[in-house]
Amino acid sequence: MINFTEDKKINSSPCATIVVPCYNEEEVLPETVKELGAIRQNLVGQGAISPASKLLFVNDGSRDKTWQLIQQFTREYDYVAGIKFTRNYGHQNALLAGMSVAVKHSDLIITIDADLQDDVNAIPKMVAAYQAGNDVVYGVRNSRATDTVFKRRTALAYYGLMKRLGVNLVPDSADYRLLSKRATEALLQYRERNLFLRGMVPLVGFKSTKVYYPRKERFAGESKYPLGKMLHFALDGITSFSIAPIHLIMGLGVTTVIISIVLMIYTVVEKIRGNVVSGWSSLMVSIWLLGGIQLISLSVIGEYVGKVFTEVKHRPRFNIEEETYSRQFEEGDRDTQREHLD
Ligand code: UDP
Ligand code: MG
Repeated sequence: MINFTEDKKINSSPCATIVVPCYNEEEVLPETVKELGAIRQNLVGQGAISPASKLLFVNDGSRDKTWQLIQQFTREYDYVAGIKFTRNYGHQNALLAGMSVAVKHSDLIITIDADLQDDVNAIPKMVAAYQAGNDVVYGVRNSRATDTVFKRRTALAYYGLMKRLGVNLVPDSADYRLLSKRATEALLQYRERNLFLRGMVPLVGFKSTKVYYPRKERFAGESKYPLGKMLHFALDGITSFSIAPIHLIMGLGVTTVIISIVLMIYTVVEKIRGNVVSGWSSLMVSIWLLGGIQLISLSVIGEYVGKVFTEVKHRPRFNIEEETYSRQFEEGDRDTQREHLD
């Protein structure tokens, strides 16, 4: 009788996988496992998720002891699994790898950074929103009190710019979100190499909602997104999702031609008046200005050609050296099969 109810509970509650990308996170990892483990335990206890639910850590080519720690936790807790990349492929690829490995065995996938900046207490709310019929649940920061003024301002300007460029983003949501199995499968159909997941998820559609949480300080260690990397990521977001910059160049070209027609008329008039030598300053200015505009325009076009270049090569987005997640499920399956045979 007891077995029957337990079986029923296992069958009816969804299997969740929490995917955590890790790059040199040895300082935070023990705390992350502790906090996420507790959240998982509570949810399993309430019957909100199945006991097969797992934490999946993706080691993105860390140079510190991150992988050794993940292995240690895998041995200590049966609900911890790991993926080891052959080298550093970046945050977005780590998330994608985690999702593509987890999707086979999971009904829902939650992605969260390793540094505990995103409040883990939003996870039960996300699961509740999933139970209420949402396929996509965005974690949205309701306060950026811990971010620097610079980061807050630039983020705001960036969301504004993206909106004007016609890119649909959920403001103040990063890569902390829940996706159902079918939403993940749909997302994995997007085969692009230039990954900007927070722009891709809204494209997938499905019923979605938001869960608000306060953004905290990094628990320990340093940001793995220094300014240069962040700018690169921001630019990637624009050029992967919008060709508005190319239209802008067109506008710039037309404006320059109109200005030059006016200047031509002015030049002719000046020549007739006999003031020809006075043109030195305007000549210098226009040479530099036009040269600059041309270089910028070329580089913008080059940016898109570069994107096409990386896409057509169809290189794999990541390579996995070791993976314990699927094995754990298959071993679990074998155990249950054996039990049935016994
Ligand atoms: N990360 C990663 N690969 C990288 C850089 C970062 O997997 O090349 C992970 C990192 O371990 C963390 C998450 O991505 O879990 C977000 O990085 P971080 O917290 O340093 O970024 P920030 O919050 O400062 O923007
Ligand atoms: Mg962080």
